Amino acid sequence: MIALGIESTAHTFGVGIVSKKKVLVNLREAYTTEKGGIIPIEAAEHHKKIAMKLVKEAIELFKRENKGKIDLVVYSRGPGIGPCLHVGKNTARELGESLEVPVIGINHCVAHLSVGSLVTATKDPVLLYASGANTQVIAYEGGKYRVFGETLDQGIGNFIDAFARHIGLGFPGGPKIEVLAKKSKNYVELPYSVKGMDISLSGMLTNLKNKYNSKDFSAEDLAYSLQETAFAMLVEVAERAMAHCGKKELLIGGGVGCNSRLQEMCAIMCKERGAKFYAPPKGLLVDNGAMIAYQGILEHCAGRKESKVEIRPYERTDDILVDWK
Ligand code: AMP
Ligand code: MG
Repeated sequence: MIALGIESTAHTFGVGIVSKKKVLVNLREAYTTEKGGIIPIEAAEHHKKIAMKLVKEAIELFKRENKGKIDLVVYSRGPGIGPCLHVGKNTARELGESLEVPVIGINHCVAHLSVGSLVTATKDPVLLYASGANTQVIAYEGGKYRVFGETLDQGIGNFIDAFARHIGLGFPGGPKIEVLAKKSKNYVELPYSVKGMDISLSGMLTNLKNKYNSKDFSAEDLAYSLQETAFAMLVEVAERAMAHCGKKELLIGGGVGCNSRLQEMCAIMCKERGAKFYAPPKGLLVDNGAMIAYQGILEHCAGRKESKVEIRPYERTDDILVDWK
């Protein structure tokens, strides 16, 4: 069984081709800006322009190394930015028609979790899903992926990007903030906001902006302190979910999961509680088509038939009945 997956929930247009056991191709092109954040219509235009080119490239790469044919086309149906989701859905539909194979839409957040079992030894992890728009701590309990904790306002990536934008760095700001943070060890006190199992970031963002505007603090010190504070909040909630569910594995997902300090803090926490920490390679942490294809294979093999090729911009992780495990 070989599936081609299309990712287009936000800034990234990705095309991946995977088998049940392996990632065969994983291409992506991201919409970026020098200054400012994502403009939905511009991101969708970007995706539209490159969609078929990237699909063709992926299929050519696949054919060069592999025999066999593509059996299934999969796309991210949500959650995400409407105009961007439409591009992925339309590309999938067109491709499904031309290859004469079924097309199914899947949930993007769930795909971040599932791909961990393709490339790591995780069996039943707690997922710390730290991406641009989404920040959730998720685990499998009683037939569903339950959200144990999440952000009450903005996603961790969007929060970092917003501060980066404020200090004149373009999108995506996460990698640039990481570089700045490495230049400091000077911790500046910031509001630490964990409420039960949830976190809140907007107060810290305002505080950071005010501190930067006051000119009393360097960008390096603020970047360092931002990472130390926000990541400690994520790790605290992840640890509490592990304790609550009695799970011994932590998997990281999402673009912010590429951050080496966040990975280090997760690894330390896991070591201290006798658990294991797993991080997929970067190409599978960020939004990508391979994880979409893999999720499609899981659902297709569990007997799922597509009813309607549609988008679901607001679909939640815990809306999905997990019948493929
Ligand atoms: P995703 O939505 O999962 O593709 O992740 C995109 C987000 O990841 C953006 O907000 C980026 O700024 C963020 N990101 C990517 N690399 C890093 C990094 N090294 N450190 C922190 N954030 C990052
Ligand atoms: Mg994502």
